[in-house]
Amino acid sequence: MLSLMNSEIIVVGSFEVNCVVLWKDPRAAWVIDPGADPEAILDFLSKNGLEVALYFLTHGHIDHVSALDALLAARPAPVHLHTDDVTFAFSPMNRFPPYLSVPARPSSLVPTPADAPPLAAGGITAEMIHTPGHTPGCQCLWVKEDKLLLSGDTLFAGSVGRTDLPGGSSQALQRSLRRLTALPSDTLVIPGHGPTTTLAIEKHDNPYLGE
Ligand SMILES: [Zn+2]
Ligand SMILES: [Zn+2]
Repeated sequence: MLSLMNSEIIVVGSFEVNCVVLWKDPRAAWVIDPGADPEAILDFLSKNGLEVALYFLTHGHIDHVSALDALLAARPAPVHLHTDDVTFAFSPMNRFPPYLSVPARPSSLVPTPADAPPLAAGGITAEMIHTPGHTPGCQCLWVKEDKLLLSGDTLFAGSVGRTDLPGGSSQALQRSLRRLTALPSDTLVIPGHGPTTTLAIEKHDNPYLGE
C-alpha cells in the first residue's frame, strides 16, 4: 500500500500566505490556511478533481482565514483551529479593512485543545503541535510519515513569527521553537509565508533558534 503524498502551495492575498493543499486520496484533500483568493483555491481543487476532507488553520489571523466563508459554501468540511484562537479569529477585532473581511464562525468548526489526538483523513495522519507565541492558539501540522512540517507563522526560513501583536509572547515562542527543533533535521518545512526550508538549514542558519 504505497501512496505518495501530493502537496501544492497556493500563494494567496496581499500578505502572500502559503495556502497548502495536501492529498493522497483525491476524494479527501486537506486545505491549510485558506487566507484569501478563494477562486484560485477552488480553481486548483476543481482542476485536480479534489474533494475537501478538512480545513486546518495554523492560527486565527485574518490573512490565514478570510477565504473560509467562500470555500465552505462551495466545499463544506470540518475546520480545525486551536481553542485558544477561536474567540479572536471570528471577532470583529480580526480585520484588515477594506481588503480582508472576518469570516463567520463556521458551523463545522472543531476547536482543538492542546495535545489533541492526531488528525487523520484520506490516508494522511498528522500531529497538531501547539506552538503558542505568535498567537496563543498557533499550531503546527507535523506529517511524520512524510517528514513534513507546516509551521504557520511560528517558524519561517531565516526568521520566526512576530510576538508584538495581541496575544503574542516571546517566551512562549522560544518554548515552541524548541518543540519544533526536536523534530528530525531532514524535515521539510512549509511556513505560513515565504520559501520552504528544512529544519537542518534553520538549526544551522536561523539566528532566532539559538543553537
Ligand atoms: Zn499570523
Ligand atoms: Zn501570517
